[in-house]
Amino acid sequence: MNDARPVLRRCVACRELLDRSLLWRVIRDHRDGVLLDQGMGRSAYLCPQESCLEEAQRRKRLQKALRCQVPDSVLEVLRERLKPDTGSDAEAR
Ligand SMILES: [Zn+2]
Repeated sequence: MNDARPVLRRCVACRELLDRSLLWRVIRDHRDGVLLDQGMGRSAYLCPQESCLEEAQRRKRLQKALRCQVPDSVLEVLRERLKPDTGSDAEAR
């Protein structure tokens, strides 16, 4: 049921083309503002790497790609995901 074709997307920071499933997706949802992973609207993609996150934040790449303000909280969530030891706690839900 998975689509076998790789869908390539470009990271807004390093401009690398990668399989969509490997990238973080930031969406400018038409109703709920800027969302991560899911939503309807314009999307920007980012490598799950500190360097790309830093670059995107410093140069406002997500803001430019989405043409809207991106709240710091969104970037904070991504930054949290880079920490290897947050997964164990978050798993229990
Ligand atoms: Zn990148």
